[in-house]
Amino acid sequence: MGSLKLFTIKGIPVRVHITFPLILIWAAIQFGRGQSSVWQGALFGVVVTLLLFFCVVLHELAHSLFAIRFGSRVNEITLLPLGGVAQMERIPDRPYQELLMALAGPVTSGVIGVGLALLILLLFPLRIWTDFVRAISSGGTLSWSYLLPYLAVTNLFLAGFNLLPAFPLDGGRVLRAVLAIMMPYDRATTLAVRIGQVLAWALGLLGLLGGDVLLILVALFVYVGASQEERLVQLKAALAGLRVRKAYSHSPQAVHPEDPLSYAVDMMLEGFQSDFPVFDEGRLVGMLTRNGVLRGLKEFGPQIPIRVVMLREFPIVSPEDDLFEIQQRMSETGAEVVPVVDEGRFLGLLTRQDLEEAYRLVTVYPALLSRRR
Ligand SMILES: [Zn+2]
Repeated sequence: MGSLKLFTIKGIPVRVHITFPLILIWAAIQFGRGQSSVWQGALFGVVVTLLLFFCVVLHELAHSLFAIRFGSRVNEITLLPLGGVAQMERIPDRPYQELLMALAGPVTSGVIGVGLALLILLLFPLRIWTDFVRAISSGGTLSWSYLLPYLAVTNLFLAGFNLLPAFPLDGGRVLRAVLAIMMPYDRATTLAVRIGQVLAWALGLLGLLGGDVLLILVALFVYVGASQEERLVQLKAALAGLRVRKAYSHSPQAVHPEDPLSYAVDMMLEGFQSDFPVFDEGRLVGMLTRNGVLRGLKEFGPQIPIRVVMLREFPIVSPEDDLFEIQQRMSETGAEVVPVVDEGRFLGLLTRQDLEEAYRLVTVYPALLSRRR
């Protein structure tokens, strides 16, 4: 978590990450430096950054509204020091939907930038631009009338930067969507990821040559984001369409709420099982996870009854659920294991190891895919 909710818009909570104030401090220092009134410069920096992030919310909201329109759910928009992230349940499958969703953000930023520029033309004499450029580049005195020019320029920059064809930037999605019209989705992804990685190398090299730390950071961020996207698509290609019933562990050892923790520890040491369903009079009443066992041992010792450390609330899955969707949900919630239940009947456990196993098997032996249903 580590974030605070600001407000909810169109049913989407907008949150700020706890590290967000870092960018405000950075802005205060950057804008305050070299000003005759350091405090006024710093205040300008903070205000302009807050306004900029308001525009970032609009950018993310534009992505989100298109995602919702195409049947996805948006869990939240989070503001981080380097930008905003809209957390979507899934990316629309059809290339043209992903294209529209990806373009919505940069187009919004572009429209804000152009709109502000037009407004400035109406409100101020033309030389405000030359004054503004001089003040920004040579550290001249900042005046509040530079607020709008600054926002206009940064929004246009935001639109342009996000259109660079590299994951996880919007331009990477645009590129993938365009490629996916011409070729299969996973090949389009691989190609888009490679192009993005080449671009990341180029950015990183530019950063190194120019001694620009921020550019190097951005290059790193782009490189890692691209690799993650590729892994996600590979995982999806491997697991989507496979059912939970293909992958879960049947009839695991069960424990009783009054059993001592040592009982589970013995079984962990003897066998391969590290998570246990907890049954009381034939009813599934809890889950004892590996983490629960470790925490219990550390805090209470091996004689504590299992009921003290078992989870009483836990999600359950059906054998007919889609393996990729369950994998996504488990990695989002950090769940190590979920019980598989069919019409009230306990069948077994689905663990992270089961998912890894299924992924590896399908990757080395794709014929499993043809017999997936
Ligand atoms: Zn965007």
